[in-house]
Amino acid sequence: MKRIYMDNSATTPVSEAALKAMLPWFREEFGNPSAIYSYGQSGKNILEDCRKRVAKCLGALPTEIFFTSGGTESDNWAVRSACRARGTKGRHIIASAIEHNAILRTLGQMEEDGFEVTYLQPDRLGRITPEQLEAAIRPDTILISIMLASNVVGTVLDIAALAKIAAKRRIWFHTDAVQAVGHIPVQAHALGVDFLSLSAHKFGGPKGVGALYCRMPNNLPPLITGGGQEKEHRSGTENIPGIVGMTTALEEAVENMDEERARLSALRDRIIAGACAIPGVELTGDPENRLPGFVSLTVDGIGHSVHVVNALNEKGICVSSGSACSAASREASHVLLALGYDAKKASGTLRITLGAENRPEEVDYLLSVLPELIMKQRTKAAASPF
Ligand code: PLP
Repeated sequence: MKRIYMDNSATTPVSEAALKAMLPWFREEFGNPSAIYSYGQSGKNILEDCRKRVAKCLGALPTEIFFTSGGTESDNWAVRSACRARGTKGRHIIASAIEHNAILRTLGQMEEDGFEVTYLQPDRLGRITPEQLEAAIRPDTILISIMLASNVVGTVLDIAALAKIAAKRRIWFHTDAVQAVGHIPVQAHALGVDFLSLSAHKFGGPKGVGALYCRMPNNLPPLITGGGQEKEHRSGTENIPGIVGMTTALEEAVENMDEERARLSALRDRIIAGACAIPGVELTGDPENRLPGFVSLTVDGIGHSVHVVNALNEKGICVSSGSACSAASREASHVLLALGYDAKKASGTLRITLGAENRPEEVDYLLSVLPELIMKQRTKAAASPF
């Protein structure tokens, strides 16, 4: 059976070009970039070349880009180090209630350390307004962290408008752009943010590598200390193959972005129209401002959506019941609850996310099997007391 992969928000396959670019850096050019001999020097050169190329893709300066182990580390770095750097000025943080757990659980620890966090509740579509943010700001607010695009409902937030408010008050602003980079235009300077997290495996790069854009790196203490790599900002021997793969994938994504956005948005809209024609199926998130390949649905009467995910899996189709991180747990997503869905609705959610390798025939196939699988599951769920 052919596998149809439609869970690209969880992770993407490494692109052919990224893989090809990475390979020499595993064996032929494996030297440590901190070494003086030429093996190491070529690593150092490619590292700085990648920094320039990533900066160009993100509308930033090379001196503002720092390589990390991925989105989780970048998020942790921004939050934890902002608290360390500014904790004497104030102990109040603002975040949206729909952040990824890389932010929420980190903030939970900050709360244990005596920081106070205001969680902004989004509207039903997942949006946060500038007025809401403005109203939550206090004299002791030191950091605001609001994601650029939701990994659960695909809504794209108006970060430029929110960051402007923070800048006026000189409050540091971080955005988790992990789901956005490589899919929609993301330009750090134009957004006006201080920190921005990204992760390679969401746009055709390898897992375990990412970056943090930092407008004023000298003000942000390192999270990971050690040998002083990344100009003392992030220690640890650099993951050169990963960084090369990420850079290649990002350039490729940016180059193909207009075309891919149009193609994936059209496929996405076909899935939305087809799925929402089934009674009791509704789109979640913002119908207008949403990520190109991102479909998120609530399906009434199926109990937990994991049953439909399993049934689709038996047909060779990989989708998710929510975010990848919560897929294993049966708890309703905190994001759907924050959007105002009740626990029952929130447990019947499907996330179908398209990527570079999806083709129209795959969408046809999905739409040909989905109604029957949902009906079958509804009959089962109606017969089961659980
Ligand atoms: N932030 C968001 C919005 C995400 O979707 C993810 C991954 O799912 C992360 C952070 C974590 O990124 P990584 O898997 O690179 O640690």
